[in-house]
Amino acid sequence: MAQNPLRLVIVGHGAAGLAAALAAAEQARNNGLSIEITLVEKAVEADAGGNTRWSPCHMRLDAPDRVAASFEEDMQRSSGGLADPTYFRTLSENATVTIEWLQTHGVAFSTPVYYLSAGPTRIQPVGGGGAIIEKLSRATSKAGVRFLYQSEARRLTVADDRVAGIDIQSRDGVITTFDAGAVVLASGGFQGNTAMMRAQFGVAGATIRLISPGTRFDTGDGIRMAREHGACVSGDWNGMHIEPIDPRSDRSAPVVLVYPYGIVVDQDGRRFCDEGADLVHETWEGFARDIHFARPKNIAYAILDSRLSDISGFERAIRSDVPPYRAEGLEELAARIGIPARNLRETVDSYNAAATGDAARFDATRCDGLAASGSLQPPKSNWARAIEKPPYLAYPLVGAIAYTFGGLATNEKAEVLGENGPISGLYAAGETTGHFYGTAPNAVSVLRALVFGKIAGRQAVDFLRTR
Ligand SMILES: Cc1cc2nc3c(=O)[nH]c(=O)nc-3n(C[C@H](O)[C@H](O)[C@H](O)COP(=O)(O)OP(=O)(O)OC[C@H]3O[C@@H](n4cnc5c(N)ncnc54)[C@H](O)[C@@H]3O)c2cc1C
Repeated sequence: MAQNPLRLVIVGHGAAGLAAALAAAEQARNNGLSIEITLVEKAVEADAGGNTRWSPCHMRLDAPDRVAASFEEDMQRSSGGLADPTYFRTLSENATVTIEWLQTHGVAFSTPVYYLSAGPTRIQPVGGGGAIIEKLSRATSKAGVRFLYQSEARRLTVADDRVAGIDIQSRDGVITTFDAGAVVLASGGFQGNTAMMRAQFGVAGATIRLISPGTRFDTGDGIRMAREHGACVSGDWNGMHIEPIDPRSDRSAPVVLVYPYGIVVDQDGRRFCDEGADLVHETWEGFARDIHFARPKNIAYAILDSRLSDISGFERAIRSDVPPYRAEGLEELAARIGIPARNLRETVDSYNAAATGDAARFDATRCDGLAASGSLQPPKSNWARAIEKPPYLAYPLVGAIAYTFGGLATNEKAEVLGENGPISGLYAAGETTGHFYGTAPNAVSVLRALVFGKIAGRQAVDFLRTR
């Protein structure tokens, strides 16, 4: 196939794809280059934006112009020491300039209070992910990038070890080969692909709820296309970011993050974890995963009492629009949620007998050290107040996936790596790339999509210019 050296195709309209497209258009303009840049997106325009559109987009920065001194160390810690230090150094070094760049394109930032608990400071775009999609698509379109919606990237062509083109299927099923000298893959993870989820996580992997309406579009296409040409992988292929939600709610991401302040029981009415092991953003992933993969019927129940409403701002930690089950007695509550009343009574009684610490120490915003006494199994390390003040409350909880960790191996230039080094002309950013191990570093996924999307767009133009 004849290569078109001055055509760049970007796959995906989320944070990573839009940042790539806009940065590429600016780089071309600044260098006086005439490059045809096309962004292809498989959803209709109103749905375009994958996870980003539905995400609050918290970003782990002390302020728009300040990265925490411990950022890189924190990344190593959450990955259990497996993270690529160069990747996270590049992220740290480029974070504030990327935020400043977004600001010049109309994205404003605030520093919100994050749910209930303390932790690293996060900034947030005003208007969340919707604002990122709206402002960046406007700027990108103004910069001359062509958008093709309902256009699904299907297959890459690589000739003589260089990207040569990409097949795009339009809404009427027609496949057109775009010859292109460079391609940026920004099509999300594989959480929306039941076959890949089953292959990776077993049968239960295929039945996890998707956390937002946009999550379904991320079906691993970019990862698959690059792997067909020998791309290496990175990240933890057994890893995913999953959160506990209320299954009764039809909202996007109806998380219930007050479980550390009560107890959590399974369908049998028994506790199975230390609900207060750490701040909620440190435990939610393992907790929700346990519910989905290890609990009967893939469900659990947070049991609380009326003191929930004494916690200042507790509503911030409940995004479900369905009120909790409520009862004056534990037996009645058990009947409402369909678990054995005797077991729930026993569980609460033994928990209460161990939750004898000084309740005045209770502080929902930090690990308060109010632990249940040592005999309780599993233990409860913080926020262990007795559940004894009716009405009693119960929230059902199931796990809902936001994104997978396994993806393509990329370097600090966002080049996709093959066995013998970068695959010429191929770039990737965002969830399509791996890099996360162990637990997802809190409030980093959008930031890395934007930072490496921008890098990918610039690098792709430089590549086209100099080849
Ligand atoms: C509810 C929710 C809350 C979150 N909260 C946070 C948070 O506070 N902080 C944080 O850092 N992260 C958060 N995340 C995660 C974060 O939002 C995402 O990881 C990030 O936005 C992903 O950006 P992306 O560009 O890689 O992918 P996406 O935004 O998912 O974009 C991928 C795009 O590619 C398109 N696409 C897929 N396949 C193809 C194809 N074959 N051809 C063409 N187009 C294709 C999709 O339709 C989509 O538009 C949250 C996610 C969700 C859903």
